[in-house]
Amino acid sequence: MSVATTTPALPIPHSKSRVKAATRTLRELGIVGHALASTHHVVMAQIVPMRFCNLSCAYCNEYDKVSEPVPVDEMLRRIDHLAGLGASIITISGGEPLTHPELDAIIARIRHHRRVAGMITNGYLLVPERIQQLNRAGLDHMQISIDNIEPDEISKKSLKVLDKKLEFLSQHAEFHVNINSVVGGGIRNPQDALVIGNRALALGFTSTIGIIHDGDGQLKPLQDEERRVYYQMAGMAKKNYSRFNKFQEAIANAIRHADPARLAINVEYEDSLVRLKVIDDGRGFLIRGDLLGFGIRGMRKRASEINADFDLMSEPGVGTTIAVSVPIRKRINLLVRFDPANTFRKSIGEI
Ligand code: SF4
Repeated sequence: MSVATTTPALPIPHSKSRVKAATRTLRELGIVGHALASTHHVVMAQIVPMRFCNLSCAYCNEYDKVSEPVPVDEMLRRIDHLAGLGASIITISGGEPLTHPELDAIIARIRHHRRVAGMITNGYLLVPERIQQLNRAGLDHMQISIDNIEPDEISKKSLKVLDKKLEFLSQHAEFHVNINSVVGGGIRNPQDALVIGNRALALGFTSTIGIIHDGDGQLKPLQDEERRVYYQMAGMAKKNYSRFNKFQEAIANAIRHADPARLAINVEYEDSLVRLKVIDDGRGFLIRGDLLGFGIRGMRKRASEINADFDLMSEPGVGTTIAVSVPIRKRINLLVRFDPANTFRKSIGEI
């Protein structure tokens, strides 16, 4: 039996979802700024409240059929501790998290600490009422991995089985949903990943692709077709802020060499690009190609690898500005400014 191939109109998010998406974006840009400004705290952590799983994927060694749920008090203690360590994003994983009886309290505790709450699930237990409970608990992100179109002996995380759940999510979820498809490790038809990715985008979700390991946890080299599908899918995936990770060097350089009294990190979100600016009022230098250090050359190279524009302005005794502009799809206009004298200001331009 084939999966529905009709493509419904892209769902129009209702106003509550749009407001939630806007505030989520704002919180996450704050995390990007915090992560760029300091490498001395945990950015992301995964917690496992439930090792039991209702499925038995052949390649998986991260579940069992006997474990009891970790008591909720213990989970709350762990979340409090992670918050104390400065963890910005806490993702609930498993086993299958939706089988934990106190999952909503766990999500709510993450949000109580103003952290981003994510969850990785196989999606089997999602029904409209459960999705609405997750909305109320404050879930920010959900990821569902779908391995194939038709269930087989390797995996039952299949579009055929989960398509109805995806429709429920498109109708009721106020959180962001990402559908991850896979190639490699026993996945019979690599082309399934493209069907799954297109279905995810048609429903208004984001879509990513991963390379799956085999039952021994080993990655095998991708065959030609798998590689083609992987790169095609990677091109379809919505980009994320991780591309700016590569420019932490600009901040490290400014602190290490420029001796600035003031260092500002601006992230400007415009119609079709995100621009990161690192501005210091330190020593500055004469810009001469033959005198540029490896750090600057490396950043310029990395910018060209992701089709970003790289601008460098510097004047001795005045300071240095490094700007990286990354093209994106239009989603929302947002302007956030960080002033990392450890009190960063945020200002919203237009939502
Ligand atoms: S659904 Fe996830 S946790 Fe469960 S067996 Fe499959 S891969 Fe493992």
